[in-house]
Amino acid sequence: MTSVDDGVDLEQVAALLRQRHEQTVEQIRVQTAESHNLRQAARHEPGDVADAGSLISDTAQHDIVTATLTEQAERLSAALDRLRDGSFGLCGTCGQQIPLARMEIMPWATHCIPCQQRAERGR
Ligand SMILES: [Zn+2]
Repeated sequence: MTSVDDGVDLEQVAALLRQRHEQTVEQIRVQTAESHNLRQAARHEPGDVADAGSLISDTAQHDIVTATLTEQAERLSAALDRLRDGSFGLCGTCGQQIPLARMEIMPWATHCIPCQQRAERGR
């Protein structure tokens, strides 16, 4: 059923995907807790202006990381959904099987490379 190319099979990619999703969710949890702590610190210990400034930029940095992680988690969770409904690894444009080697690197990929490149050029 699944062609074994490059020694990667769908099971492995699926396992990798679940693992990445778990890790990302865990990182979000840590980031959220940390930025919560930073905000608490900023509120309770105003300190001098320089400190307050660095606290604010730390918090901003955390927010950017959290936003990126959240986006990543959403993509991974969408990929897990596709895994369940059987459309995982199929190109959303041409319906062809996306090479598993690509799915291993980018498990959230929804398009094969040619379709992706066409879409990017068309932008
Ligand atoms: Zn395609």
